[in-house]
Amino acid sequence: MPKTILKIALDVPLDRLFDYLSGGNVAQIGQRVLVPFGRRSQIGIVMGFAETSEFPIEKLKPVTQVFVDELPINTETLNLIKFSADYYQYPFGQALLSALPSRLRQIAPAVSRKQFAYQLTEFGRTQSVDQIPKRQLVTRRVFEALQASELLTEVELDAISSGARKAAKQLVLDGWASSKQVQAGLRVLEQQSAIEPDLNEEQAHAVEQIVQNSTEFKAWLLHGITGSGKTEVYIRLMQHFLASKDAQVLVLVPEINLTPQLESRFRSRFANIPLVSLHSNLSESERLHHWQMAQSGAAKIVIGTRLSIFTPLPNLKLIIIDEEHDGSYKQQDSMRYHARDIALVRAKRLNIPVVLGSATPALESWHNATANKYNLLSLNQRAVTAAQLPNIECIDTTKVNLQQGLTPQLITALKLRLARKEQSLLFINRRGYSPVLLCSACHWIAPCMRCSSRLVVHLGQRKLRCHHCGHEQKIPLQCPSCGNADLHPTGHGTQRLEQTLAQLLPTARIARVDRDSISRKNALVEILDKVHNQEIDILVGTQMLAKGHDFPNLTLVGVIDTDSALHSPDFRASERLFAQLMQVAGRAGRADKAGQVIIQTQFPEHVLFNALRSQDYVSYANAMLQEREQVQFPPYVFMALLRAEANDFALVQQFLNHAFKLVRDLSTDVTVYDPIRPQMERLKGMERGHVLMQTSNRGALQKLLRNLVSQLRGQAIAAKVRWAIDVDPLEF
Ligand code: ADP
Ligand code: ZN
Ligand code: ZN
Repeated sequence: MPKTILKIALDVPLDRLFDYLSGGNVAQIGQRVLVPFGRRSQIGIVMGFAETSEFPIEKLKPVTQVFVDELPINTETLNLIKFSADYYQYPFGQALLSALPSRLRQIAPAVSRKQFAYQLTEFGRTQSVDQIPKRQLVTRRVFEALQASELLTEVELDAISSGARKAAKQLVLDGWASSKQVQAGLRVLEQQSAIEPDLNEEQAHAVEQIVQNSTEFKAWLLHGITGSGKTEVYIRLMQHFLASKDAQVLVLVPEINLTPQLESRFRSRFANIPLVSLHSNLSESERLHHWQMAQSGAAKIVIGTRLSIFTPLPNLKLIIIDEEHDGSYKQQDSMRYHARDIALVRAKRLNIPVVLGSATPALESWHNATANKYNLLSLNQRAVTAAQLPNIECIDTTKVNLQQGLTPQLITALKLRLARKEQSLLFINRRGYSPVLLCSACHWIAPCMRCSSRLVVHLGQRKLRCHHCGHEQKIPLQCPSCGNADLHPTGHGTQRLEQTLAQLLPTARIARVDRDSISRKNALVEILDKVHNQEIDILVGTQMLAKGHDFPNLTLVGVIDTDSALHSPDFRASERLFAQLMQVAGRAGRADKAGQVIIQTQFPEHVLFNALRSQDYVSYANAMLQEREQVQFPPYVFMALLRAEANDFALVQQFLNHAFKLVRDLSTDVTVYDPIRPQMERLKGMERGHVLMQTSNRGALQKLLRNLVSQLRGQAIAAKVRWAIDVDPLEF
């Protein structure tokens, strides 16, 4: 009598499914199961059924448990992950399991569906919001929400702000509120929606076009300068789609730091629509809960970072990708997928529209728009009519006397802002005090022993730190190379700039925003609140500040030292720099006050700065594309890397030489280049190398990679190194 066999995907580095006996359990495709594997148990996902196995039936083991209470993962999601695993040459089981919230990968079936909820106490009900200091913005909002609602769950608090739980706990400590455990669910806050502005002509046109084509796959490239009202366009589109019963919308954002703002903006406009966020700052149980809300269809709006592209959404009707050019959409380890590219595939398979928004679209996207594969929609004006484009000037740092790295023009402009009680932002792409420690006698520079990089001086902690591997050491008193005691921190980082400004402008209130200063949860939210409350005059920060924030009183942006990117060997460096500078420049003069941007550089006549000065993305993009076409770089060719690393470079070389020959024999349609070392030759103590494959025929590349991987997997030489395939790589 035939036995029913379950084909199960497991989190193991083998590209196959595993056979188990159903053991009388009834399971569906996409269902989570527990199975014995080796001497341990593992979580798996049912992918199919069979009556026979290539293994003897008596050797198969039965599944231990089927989690029948949980919704199975729908086939649309499973197929999407299957497609991605194939395209990026990654084992399907690993791709699938790693797309799940970590709670669903753990063996303990006890999925907590309990969460805390808050309500006002008798005492709290007699209090007024005016008793909470104005600067405690989040606490005030939480208090008001508690006044408006019987009971607020943690998920609902999250929808107010990322700091809302903390604020609620504080209210409990103060005796204003109490908390209790409740069954998880998603209720909606009864709130008044914020007023909506009338769309300008360009915005209205964009919305109209997409709405008219709302039931079919089309990729829309929404190219709009910063402040042109792209977010407003997203909101109107969401309104349109969410008006149909059960519809869900997925909004991708590049960074966790951007989710709270967008979330609260959506929240104020979609008061009665269930919204969840998905990103790695959530606790495991929050993540699970939000994910399940998305999966069940209860959450209608899902905002998330790249991984959320794999969330099961039974009624997905629209995908929006904000800042689509952003490199953080590409995963840089495990399955090296690009969330934007997967979003396009998903939209196409579902036959729904996908909207890519950016002030500086990726050249790939721009190319697709000019080739009419994407539909271009442009917003060329700032949405707030009074807001003008900032005036951008480049100051030649070789022609003026710098005061601690700052030009007189920038210092004067900063003083003027202080006098006018306006705000300034100084952008520098290096955190720490200074990027290198230099010996004045022999020019020794403190290196990282584990990476091909230099150690950054962190003066506050009296440490040298590697920004690539995290290695830390004390600042040496003497040069290890010549014994000289005169070691100089050289060059500028955020900390040093902050210190310099404090000396030059003693009355200024300065805040620094970089990964060091905002490592504490909510630190960024607090600084941003202060900026909004005019308690900060000058913000010093890294690219973290470049994105998304809207400060009406900020009228000056200074850019310190970005020259290294102008001459980088990475062919994408100038594209990235241009995008970044357009974005920072966009921070100046957002409301009714004109903005000024000052860029300090040794190369003021560089074409990139010329394009920036005229804020002309289009001609710069076209020029860059022409260059790429001439030298045959993406998007005119498709690339893949075979990356390898090991403690011993000889092994890497041996492996890559072997792979190189293999590739050459496997395909004539794909050009393969000699093994080379990446820019970061050594990282975290591992010696690295790669082989580049390139072709204009994507299908040929895919076929080659499949063959290459299946051959390499069985070979002894491949077991001696860590290797991975990177399809459409962004970093070299
Ligand atoms: P982007 O996302 O392109 O940077 P936003 O959507 O954030 O632009 O809009 C910038 C500012 O202009 C916001 O303060 C927004 O509220 C406002 N805004 C957007 N559209 C309009 C409009 N049609 N009328 C008035 N103000 C608008
Ligand atoms: Zn020395
Ligand atoms: Zn290092």
